Amino acid sequence: MMATTIAGTMHAVGVTPKKPNSARQVELPKPSASAGLALMRVLEVGIDGTDTEINEGLYGEAPPGSNVLVIGHEALSLVEAVGDGVAGFQPGDLVVATVRRPDSCPNCQAGESDMCLSGNYTERGIKGAHGYMGQYYGEKPDFLVKIPPTMRDYAVLLEPLSIVEKATYQAWKIQERMLWQPKRAVVLGAGPIGILGTMLLRLKELEVHVYAKNPPESIQAQVITSTGADYHSVDDHPVTGLRDELGQIDFILEGTGNSVVAFQAMSQAGTNGVVCLTGVSAGNRSIQIPSDVINLQMVLGNRVVFGTVNANRRYFESGVRHFDEAERRWPGIWKRLITRRVPFAGFADALNRKPEDIKTLLIVSA
Ligand SMILES: [Zn+2]
Repeated sequence: MMATTIAGTMHAVGVTPKKPNSARQVELPKPSASAGLALMRVLEVGIDGTDTEINEGLYGEAPPGSNVLVIGHEALSLVEAVGDGVAGFQPGDLVVATVRRPDSCPNCQAGESDMCLSGNYTERGIKGAHGYMGQYYGEKPDFLVKIPPTMRDYAVLLEPLSIVEKATYQAWKIQERMLWQPKRAVVLGAGPIGILGTMLLRLKELEVHVYAKNPPESIQAQVITSTGADYHSVDDHPVTGLRDELGQIDFILEGTGNSVVAFQAMSQAGTNGVVCLTGVSAGNRSIQIPSDVINLQMVLGNRVVFGTVNANRRYFESGVRHFDEAERRWPGIWKRLITRRVPFAGFADALNRKPEDIKTLLIVSA
């Protein structure tokens, strides 16, 4: 197919990295479907804590030569045009793009940029590359995941889902070290990670207990209990009592990003249990921990604690399969996770996260 060039400029939401509250509408050159690239028209972009924190000036890095970073790393888009040499995609296809782009390290070169050794990767919308919160973007087909049209209404959730796809895949992979027949899981936190993690664990038929601060009548609690998981609304509930309450805990998914909770969780995993940490704590807090007890339990119980970040293409693809599986089991559940839709002009409001939000979408085009 002939390369298509669209002249002119496009709207996007950009920040000046490290400058608080700098999110604003910017005009940038429209990308084009040059050789090897597909051109995507963005339909909608999911907002997450990373976007808000970048806008708060906590981190973020503009592409080389630019002082603006277009934010947004969770987008559902339509292929608008494909450049020469692009196979497998055509105009009209629905796609979600992955976030991280590889550097030259062995893991990146093997398709596992989520396991990058050198740290010189870029991340669209976060670190050294523009994101998707604009009208268009160009991308190589290697980083595009095709979405069946039946998933149009909720496929924007694929990027956050990919994070827990990786978390669970890695935990189960680690546990191939033995005969492991997990029955009970604990999920800490009821943000998107906690909710999506709960759904995947319920699809694995585990008994799931979620502990979070949201009230029992909150939408978060309602969605969680609709999957058959138990929801415990807690405020300053000591995580250190969980094992006494529940008995053997085979898997703990930490999704609060609170380092105190993370360390308390380590003492609660049962024999042969595994604890997965997904949350980032940006502070410098120090706490006293019962190190003798934790060390003793880790050793005598063959326990594992691991951290996980980002997700490579494999996890986006397994997410597409789970979209289908969960939708059949709990019809309409994915759409219930989208709690707010904000038109493009309201991006500042969309970035302002509210307690009743699960996932807010910025609607870029129809
Ligand atoms: Zn790398």
